Amino acid sequence: MKPEIEKRLERAQSLPTIPGVAQRIVELGQQAEVDTTEVSEVLSRDPALTAKILRAANSPIFAHRRKASSLREAIMALGLEATLTLALGFVLVRNLNSVSGRLDYHAFWRRAMVSGAAAQSISERIGRLNSEEVLLAGMLQDIGMLVFDALMPREYGRLAAEAEDHESLRLAEKNILEVDHAELGLWLMQRWNLPEYLQCAAFASHEPELMDLPENEGNLCQQKELGKIVALSSRMADIWVTRDSDSATMQAASLAYEFYGWDQEAFGEVLSKVAELVRHLTDVYEIENTSVEDLAAISDQARETLTLRSLHMIHEAAQERRRNQELEAQNSILKDQAEKDALTELYNRRHLEKRLKQAFAQARKHNKTMALALIDLDYFKRVNDELGHQAGDAVLYGVAQVLRQQVRDDDILARYGGEEFLLALPDVGELAAKGIMQRIRKAIAETEYSPGAGAPARRITTSIGYAISDGSDSRLDSVEALIEAADKALYRAKVGGRNRVELFGPEVH
Ligand code: GH3
Ligand code: MG
Ligand code: MG
Repeated sequence: MKPEIEKRLERAQSLPTIPGVAQRIVELGQQAEVDTTEVSEVLSRDPALTAKILRAANSPIFAHRRKASSLREAIMALGLEATLTLALGFVLVRNLNSVSGRLDYHAFWRRAMVSGAAAQSISERIGRLNSEEVLLAGMLQDIGMLVFDALMPREYGRLAAEAEDHESLRLAEKNILEVDHAELGLWLMQRWNLPEYLQCAAFASHEPELMDLPENEGNLCQQKELGKIVALSSRMADIWVTRDSDSATMQAASLAYEFYGWDQEAFGEVLSKVAELVRHLTDVYEIENTSVEDLAAISDQARETLTLRSLHMIHEAAQERRRNQELEAQNSILKDQAEKDALTELYNRRHLEKRLKQAFAQARKHNKTMALALIDLDYFKRVNDELGHQAGDAVLYGVAQVLRQQVRDDDILARYGGEEFLLALPDVGELAAKGIMQRIRKAIAETEYSPGAGAPARRITTSIGYAISDGSDSRLDSVEALIEAADKALYRAKVGGRNRVELFGPEVH
């Protein structure tokens, strides 16, 4: 991982933390010798958890086992290892449900349930691995998304909601931070000391070939099969949780053929199994999910999609989708996100410079004016000093939103520096510019900003310096010169008492 990302992770305010019970469960799992008494002692301290273990022991998912009416019996029925694995899942699902970002946790866990069910169904079909472990590995494979949400609290939720499917989201992540949630998931799981099989399943969840590398993380992944199962489970989950279910179906079917040689019928059977399993899991894990009919309807629809097509057609469609995805990653929202500032969601400097150059050249070419303003918060340092940096961030975000409301689509608005914004208005003359600047200054001053953490709302003012280029003043014949002029005017607004607007003119030097 890039050192820059590691630094960001260290600085992140609200990374998800491992619940105390989960930590205890992990420790128990790592002990060389652990007995039923010890396990039941830890679990019984948490009545809700005990109830879930009991329910699991009596659920049709584990139907081959004896009926259990006490925690001890449940542990005996499930087996010690399976009990601990299930308990870990229960605790994480229950406790990891809101950090500071805007990620839709309901959707996150819904996907996790379907992925878990898919992983378990695949595993049953190929008949190899420990089913509780596979279930948990499938469920937790995307836990790195929670880390992403903490790193980009204002943006990641939207990114996740708008992504066409899971792979698009991953490509977007790579675009923006040069890591994906698989890598961040591995990081988090290592930090939490979760079992190694979970770590590598998460890490290899999009690229199962990673598990084949002998040098991979000290070869901690003995079960190469797990990577494939988890990767396929993720593709299958897309069938239930993305908008384009048909496309997801074909991609998953294509991968299933590649991995296991399953034809449409075999794959269709696994799909139906998944729908059934999700229903039971939803019950045991007490997670809200779409209605039972919906789950089955989607798998029926997917089966139909498959029977209508030849295997050849399915592969073609899947390949085409993959090619398109690479292209999509280069544009639309993904690019948009890469050019935005994480805190304010306004354009960042990189994007600004490009846009400004274009706009200025256009203005020159068509003999139009361009107004450019620098907007700087007054005494912003005091907000930080009095209420803390996070409160400062909240105020800054609020001001950015007010600014956004005040401008039109064609205007160029960006975060220029720490607490300074740049606004460029193409085709706006002196009179109009003056009105707009005063309106903005007033709108910012009249808004109450909530600094968060229960602190009372706060007001803030800004000073604005602006300059106008109409081609007549040779001092203002480049973007750089306009910015410099606006900066001089801003300085005047500051010394003139702040909460003021100043236009650059002959008298300003
Ligand atoms: P002035 O009216 O002269 O502009 O006073 P000021 O306090 O706003 O200006 P100064 O340049 O002295 O301080 C700017 C402060 O803005 C210092 C810096 O820590 C803070 N700042 C810059 N970027 C951020 C940010 O992203 N978040 C927070 N919370 N503070 C920031
Ligand atoms: Mg994933
Ligand atoms: Mg300032």
